[in-house]
Amino acid sequence: MTIFVALLVTVLAFVFVVYPFFRRRSSSIDAVDDEKLRELYSKRDTTYSFLKEVEFDLQSGMLTDEEHRDLETTYQRKAISILRDIDNLEKEPEVEQEIEKQVLELRQNKGQFCSQCGARCQEGDHFCSHCGANLTKEESN
Ligand SMILES: [Zn+2]
Repeated sequence: MTIFVALLVTVLAFVFVVYPFFRRRSSSIDAVDDEKLRELYSKRDTTYSFLKEVEFDLQSGMLTDEEHRDLETTYQRKAISILRDIDNLEKEPEVEQEIEKQVLELRQNKGQFCSQCGARCQEGDHFCSHCGANLTKEESN
């Protein structure tokens, strides 16, 4: 009976400690993905506007047919690869991949997490890039 209670307490303590860590971690990953997505969307828009420009340059005689075709192909390929990246990011990350990634990061001991908002920060950062909290105050220098 005592062993059972001790075991239960251990498991509860483990869940209590680990659960918020995982929850925070995944939300910080979402934040990173959001940023990447925004970046990709703006790249996509830029590429689209280049394509329009190329079309306009052809019509106004600034580009030859051949130049136009080359540029159009280049930008179309670029747009496709950006759209593919967006697609990959918008997909729900597989739980296994997520855990694998976390384990790998823990092993490499890379980065740190903001104690205020849980955002992931770069190793050596003094302030959280998400909420601006001081990340160094917990360390003894
Ligand atoms: Zn923060």
